[in-house]
Amino acid sequence: MRSAAPELALIADVCLCEYTTHGHCGTLDDAGAIDNDATLPLLADAARAYADAGADVLAPSDMMDGRVAAIRAALDGAGHPERAILSYAAKFASGFYGPFREAADCAPLFGDRAGYQMDPPNGREAIAELRDDLAEGADLLMVKPAGPYLDVLAAARARFDVPIAAYQVSGEYAALHAAAERGWLDLRRVATESLLGIARAGAGIIVTYFALEAAAWLAEER
Ligand SMILES: [Zn+2]
Repeated sequence: MRSAAPELALIADVCLCEYTTHGHCGTLDDAGAIDNDATLPLLADAARAYADAGADVLAPSDMMDGRVAAIRAALDGAGHPERAILSYAAKFASGFYGPFREAADCAPLFGDRAGYQMDPPNGREAIAELRDDLAEGADLLMVKPAGPYLDVLAAARARFDVPIAAYQVSGEYAALHAAAERGWLDLRRVATESLLGIARAGAGIIVTYFALEAAAWLAEER
């Protein structure tokens, strides 16, 4: 991708769950619990490898504590001080990830990710996580999912002076598509409205499965 499109900004998602036999985002200790600190050097190594391969932005999505600082140190140490970190800082344990997990076949073999992802009712904890990741050296902050967490997005926008990204996840996308297929909703209209809501709440960057369609719609409107 780097050599095919030198002008493109490349963002690499950094996590371990696609590569662990158990599907969790970190390594496990002897008791079968996530070993936060043992996971950090592995994430840092992965981020450095992506940067070596040409990624401009490294985006850790694992939710381990301390990973932004570990990745920043690894990037700086490997001669990549200019590469940015987009932290999935407020990533909630959400039912809206369902279609992606099905497609990627990456649901954990046992347990779930709720132990390291955030509790949906807890908006203040999200702000604390965002603040911590910023202090560790994150250049951009992400809220995920987007639609059910617009309040967190708006609070993040009001509080922090870095670009705020939002991730409209697979379930948000699939729900609108399914309703449109039944003739209940006008897909272009509601997809646009959902993206506008996310932008209005404060997202300067939106990651969405509607990206290609939305780009065509925007080009048409211009
Ligand atoms: Zn993961």
